[in-house]
Amino acid sequence: MIVTYIRSSSYNNYDYCQMQYFITYVLGWRGDSGRRAEQGTMVHKVMEVLAALKKYKQENPKARILKTIDDAIGEVKVGTKKFYEDEFVEELLQRSYEAYKKDSVNTWQPSHYKEVVKGAWLFLNHNNRKDFDPRYRNVYYTEPHFDIEIEEDWAKFDYEINGERVEGRLAIKGTIDLVTQIDDDTIEVIDWKTGRRLNWATGEVKTYDKMMNDPQLLLYFYAMSKMYPQFKYRIMSIFFSKDEEGKYDPQPFSLPFGKEDEPRFLEMLRQQVEKIRQNINPKMIDPTHRNFKCRILCHFCKNKFDPKDSESMCKTVYNSLQRDGYDETVANYTKDGHNIGYYEAPG
Ligand code: SF4
Repeated sequence: MIVTYIRSSSYNNYDYCQMQYFITYVLGWRGDSGRRAEQGTMVHKVMEVLAALKKYKQENPKARILKTIDDAIGEVKVGTKKFYEDEFVEELLQRSYEAYKKDSVNTWQPSHYKEVVKGAWLFLNHNNRKDFDPRYRNVYYTEPHFDIEIEEDWAKFDYEINGERVEGRLAIKGTIDLVTQIDDDTIEVIDWKTGRRLNWATGEVKTYDKMMNDPQLLLYFYAMSKMYPQFKYRIMSIFFSKDEEGKYDPQPFSLPFGKEDEPRFLEMLRQQVEKIRQNINPKMIDPTHRNFKCRILCHFCKNKFDPKDSESMCKTVYNSLQRDGYDETVANYTKDGHNIGYYEAPG
């Protein structure tokens, strides 16, 4: 498979299902978000807006009205007193819910809104609002995007795609939820997780030890070290709102990665990229699609490329690979004629 970049989501997705990775990140098809993913987005949006307003307040200490313009919920203005009131958070929750619900393909009930509210307050209220409420943190950057080339020989690529030569270096890409500054030497990155504290590829619970070897967290840490080299210490905090069984249970973890973890991450990345590059025949996790990961969680099991197709998107691509091979399948099913590897799958 062609790999020109790795996102935190794509790294884990390959281990979850090779076929899902191939359809998403090589062919460029993206399924509609499920309801739970959208609920997570609604919660994240509230945290992001609170952080943006707090940053505005820091930069304009005399301002009596705090302002931000958000891509999803529009302009937000609030007085400095009301900013700290629960009523304002409730208003933001309502706006975020309405903004994402209006374009959603999912069905929404009042109970779903209540879950969004519960998830957001769980993050905000933790430890009397001292740790994870952006209003009480020194906000350094909200939702920074990163796109960082890997300066290693193995990261160079040279592909021929649809008759065109494409050269470059592998990049890591992603978005960090929030960067806060603790002191002159230290920043803390916060990642809010509204899902379960589970590795979905293996089914194992993410313990502290496992998180110290988690590629997604190491990828974030590596990105931080390149984005913010001026800070000597970088703390990576991840906050799960649910335990491994899906019950609400606030579980924050702070991971003390250091300089010595950078080569460790690069070696993990190299091995993963090599593994993906060498794979020209991606496997399905369950050819019968009875597995709940197919039946319930995967868009490519539920939908077809064309209503006239007899098979799901997953089976159609699989059959095409067996029949025509990798190159033909890429040419036939690449979304919107995008060249593979260029298509920017979100997430
Ligand atoms: S339907 Fe199952 S095998 Fe196919 S892409 Fe989805 S998760 Fe993978």
